[in-house]
Amino acid sequence: MLGLMQTQPLLISGLLTFAECHHSDAEIISRRVEGDIHRYAYADLARRARRLANLLQNWGTEPGDRIGTLAWNGYRHMELYYAGGGSGRVTHTINPRLIPDQIAWIINHAEDQALFFDLTFLPIVQLIHDKCPTVKHWVVMIDADRMPADTGIPGLENYEELLAAQSGDYEWPELDENTACGMCYTSGTTGRPKGVLYSNRSSVLHAYGISLPDVINISSRDSILPVVPMFHVNAWGVPYAAALTGTRVVFPGPALDGKSVYELIESEGITCAAGVPTVWQMLLNHMDANKLKFSTLNRTVIGGAACPPAMIDAFEERYDVRVLHAWGMTETSPVGTLSTLKNKHLELDPEAQKKILLKQGRAVFGVDMKIVGGDGKELPHDGRTAGSLMVKGPWVIEDYFRSGDPSPLVDGWFPTGDIATIDEDGYMQITDRTKDVIKSGGEWISSIDLENIAVAHPEVAEAACIGVKHPKWDERPILVAVKKPGSDLTREELLAFYQDKVAKWQIPDDVIFVDEIPHGATGKLLKIKLRDLLKDYRLPTT
Ligand code: ADP
Repeated sequence: MLGLMQTQPLLISGLLTFAECHHSDAEIISRRVEGDIHRYAYADLARRARRLANLLQNWGTEPGDRIGTLAWNGYRHMELYYAGGGSGRVTHTINPRLIPDQIAWIINHAEDQALFFDLTFLPIVQLIHDKCPTVKHWVVMIDADRMPADTGIPGLENYEELLAAQSGDYEWPELDENTACGMCYTSGTTGRPKGVLYSNRSSVLHAYGISLPDVINISSRDSILPVVPMFHVNAWGVPYAAALTGTRVVFPGPALDGKSVYELIESEGITCAAGVPTVWQMLLNHMDANKLKFSTLNRTVIGGAACPPAMIDAFEERYDVRVLHAWGMTETSPVGTLSTLKNKHLELDPEAQKKILLKQGRAVFGVDMKIVGGDGKELPHDGRTAGSLMVKGPWVIEDYFRSGDPSPLVDGWFPTGDIATIDEDGYMQITDRTKDVIKSGGEWISSIDLENIAVAHPEVAEAACIGVKHPKWDERPILVAVKKPGSDLTREELLAFYQDKVAKWQIPDDVIFVDEIPHGATGKLLKIKLRDLLKDYRLPTT
């Protein structure tokens, strides 16, 4: 027997109309490419999104058409999220940090019909515009009086002029809730980029999920700063969750250095900020160097890569900011787990609590999780046994967009490519990515553990651990590290730092100091590149 409740579809246009009705005056603040700080409210967002939806319709784009963006975090990008997805089109966010050929490849694979971009990315568009035959409109998102001249891009259009010419009357269609609304390609650290196609339903459910108290816990009393880009997994869903909860949003635009982020946190009274560890490291370096404090920030969501213990210590002990360590992927919308304490943990001493908070955390309702061994059999949740992490749920991918390959699912579960443990209380801890784990003498060594120890050394700025071939042990770990400025740390001193922190056989065989470690387009350590750079490296023989 079916229930007798209404079956109104879950649509992202519903989030926007709700925001317009119930918190129309909550602010959306953006640092712009123009250089200034722009302020408006949800009512303005809704008004301009309707104009934009009219534009997409009057251009003759069809429901299901992909609309590309190459843009920083800002209000115009948010308008595109809602106008594209809300009108039945698909807002396709593209990572501008990829190389231009890869960007063109992604645009062509997605068959984007239009491309909206921030002026910063004009040089990229100049390189690719004649290689993208499906794109009929190239639109610069900048004030009309700041349009660049002589760009070499025929018919280049201006966002503000286009919007001004449209009517603000638009009725959001009542779509099937499984209609696609957004799209993001994986960053390609593991091969060719693959398109992940979010639905209205998955996006709305994810927005509910991440707003919960044991997740990001955002409300109309917060001011949130998503430093994590809107071009990478929808800024972790913040633009949707903020509309759902009436949270004041502050977008950092192009200024992501420590000084700019700090100033924005202070000047806008940010209470919650979200980003990857590399961004927070820049912020912490700036604060340490200038002896600064936070006056309003009370929590920070850290994910996308493992949060080193030293970073939790810095935020919690030096700055009194709670760290919410989260795990997710492009394929999981992205939030899968987040670490907060349970009631029974509140009595534990700070060290024991930190151990829990360092894990990637408990699954959010909506994400089922298990670990399996090489034979596909489920492994125990004992906090020690590591296996391949599999997930499923209404905001987890079913298939990639036009990949030509069979669905990635195994018996309905998505293999994440991560190796993890799960403890008795349901806390998941990533020990490695499948391809990064170091296999030594039949045992696994976690590269993340070895990196965390290295960056806990006061003179190490950054570290990456990779496995290199060994005739006897198959692979052995070596550490590639960047010293802090002025440090004369030696290889032997750093290796000695590992004593008593891990088993002897897990201590790296060598340390190589470098000036810089390569990062991928989303700020993560690029181990593929590192392995390539070190392909002629030979382990020390003694
Ligand atoms: P890509 O797979 O292209 O690098 P994603 O941003 O989707 O792009 O990356 C997801 C991966 O990032 C996860 O599978 C995991 O390996 C890693 N990751 C995300 N969050 C964490 C975290 N908190 N700790 C450790 N690894 C993480």
